Amino acid sequence: MLPSHKGFRFTLITVNAEIVAVGSELLTPFRQDTNSLFLTARLNELGVEVIYKTIVGDRPDHLLEACRQAFTRAEIIIFSGGLGPTEDDLTRECVAEALGLELRRDHEMVTALYTRAANMRVKLAENNIKQADYIAGAEVLKNPRGTAPGQWLETEYEGQKRLIMLLPGPPHEMEGVFTEHCIPRLEAALPEVHLATCELKIAMVPESAADLRAAKHYKNFPGVETTILAKPGEVQLHLKARAASREEAEARLDKLAVLLEEEFAEEIFSSGGESMEQIVGYFLQMRGATLAVAESCTGGLLGERITSVPGSSRYFLGGALVYSDQLKMEFCGVPPLLLKSDGAVSRTVAAALAEGIRQRCKSSLGIGITGVAGPGGGTEEKPVGLVYIALADGKHTEVVERRFPGDRERIRWFASQLALEMLRRKLR
Ligand code: ATP
Ligand code: MG
Repeated sequence: MLPSHKGFRFTLITVNAEIVAVGSELLTPFRQDTNSLFLTARLNELGVEVIYKTIVGDRPDHLLEACRQAFTRAEIIIFSGGLGPTEDDLTRECVAEALGLELRRDHEMVTALYTRAANMRVKLAENNIKQADYIAGAEVLKNPRGTAPGQWLETEYEGQKRLIMLLPGPPHEMEGVFTEHCIPRLEAALPEVHLATCELKIAMVPESAADLRAAKHYKNFPGVETTILAKPGEVQLHLKARAASREEAEARLDKLAVLLEEEFAEEIFSSGGESMEQIVGYFLQMRGATLAVAESCTGGLLGERITSVPGSSRYFLGGALVYSDQLKMEFCGVPPLLLKSDGAVSRTVAAALAEGIRQRCKSSLGIGITGVAGPGGGTEEKPVGLVYIALADGKHTEVVERRFPGDRERIRWFASQLALEMLRRKLR
């Protein structure tokens, strides 16, 4: 049993939550429920797990049903939206009805609404006044960014303790009310939990292979929550551990993190949240190296990614987009005979692009990319997804051949990722 801020004794053992996003527009293709993403991130930081999310339109029967379901299955229930003045804003009415509680009118708030309307020289519409209604027993949470205040209610549903929050729908209002009023109250009501997190990023290992290799370690750590997130050419392992003290949470997580760092010693490029482009930039700067790129196939994506890092002009000199044979020859000095004999998409042309752009730009390193991004243009010999990437340093030129899966966008992303990974391995 832990005392909450008001002395209300609230017992939550495994704390879980449901978020109910209210609004018919959220059921159309035009508006997305983003409030629940913000709320989930904040709740997780507090050690609360979101076990359900519901999106429900502005129909009282559906909203009532959603209330009852949520009150039955979660301990913390957060509503967003439907607190406004219009006819279809019904959240407070439905929540009160589902709980069998009355609505009370906050007279101070009624006065404030009239004053506000008078100041704006408008007549206060009748239904505006319902924004001053709160559920019996709830605390009204000020919303200086809008008119509809939030509500905080500690109550019971069918004999079970429930913590219920009503938040306005507009994201900046919801974020303000939740941050200012709900987080401090939650911290007081919840058992103290410390959360340690770590993000390991791994390059160019397929998700299934990464999971297989990671699972043999994380399955021995049931106290650490491991989530795998994948995008082309990158797998992220997110580790989370909760404990009563910070030291304990970190100690739990550290043991697993060390094992994973050993398992993926070659492939892990970041454990502190840095992106691949940041890491490569860091290494280039540390080695005092400069880079130039000649891109076909990726159309500038590699240069774009490298230069997305502030300060990249210290090590990135520039490069060329060379799609035609003519420009490959003119800008990078690729021998015409090579293009004729091996074709533009070939190991030798990739190498010539890397060496040529390096010389032309007088950089210490040069990268050349050539490939078939598709969807058309593939042949039996040179299928869609075939990519050659070369890295030249003046003494040696390394060329890698890969056949990437997926559509044009994925193939181009993979190619840029592999080029960055080749740079990282060379420089680390
Ligand atoms: P208002 O006083 O503005 O009417 P409200 O609490 O009634 O506040 P809604 O009418 O439900 O809120 O929504 C207001 C705005 O906030 C709409 O533009 C809506 O698209 C946006 N919104 C509502 N819920 C969400 C959500 N879950 N995620 C993102 N945007 C939302
Ligand atoms: Mg509204």
